[in-house]
Amino acid sequence: ETVQISAFVQETADSFEQAYGRRVQVNMKESCTVETDRSKLRQLIYIFLDNARKYSDEDIQIEVKQNTICIRDKGIGIPSEDINKIFDRFYRVDKARTRKTGGFGLGLPIAKELAEAIGADVRIESEEGRGTTAIIILSEFSFYPGILKGKRGEKE
Ligand code: ATP
Repeated sequence: ETVQISAFVQETADSFEQAYGRRVQVNMKESCTVETDRSKLRQLIYIFLDNARKYSDEDIQIEVKQNTICIRDKGIGIPSEDINKIFDRFYRVDKARTRKTGGFGLGLPIAKELAEAIGADVRIESEEGRGTTAIIILSEFSFYPGILKGKRGEKE
């Protein structure tokens, strides 16, 4: 499916806002069109938005720049010793701090599988006490900049 990233991210952010009553600010830098699976990409964005919602209290920010989508929160952050384990099944940072949010530690492993299925790369950068940024990089083979239309590389 062909997906116009800026419109798609805005739509996803709006539906998340509606569902959870949490503000999501979208900042579009450069949009592009990608060839991807809409439903998987939506689920992937939702997992990161949902973590941002659970582990922070302020507005959530999304930035779109070409084939990169960053989901940023100013929440509790992830200690550096845990950052390599959060994509493992059932891994949750310090049970005491995450108990009130519930969850099984399955969101991120699922995100990893969804990303693999659509050929995207996902990373998490975080600073404890300051916040977390989840980065989705869509495959460069499947995207073409906004000015091009039709098949990849073919000018309108
Ligand atoms: P669920 O299975 O409902 O998604 P979960 O949030 O515990 O539950 P993951 O999404 O896999 O599971 O996240 C794993 C752990 O990584 C979380 O328990 C939390 O400690 C940490 N984490 C993930 N995202 C963030 C974030 N944005 N800010 C702070 N900690 C986070």
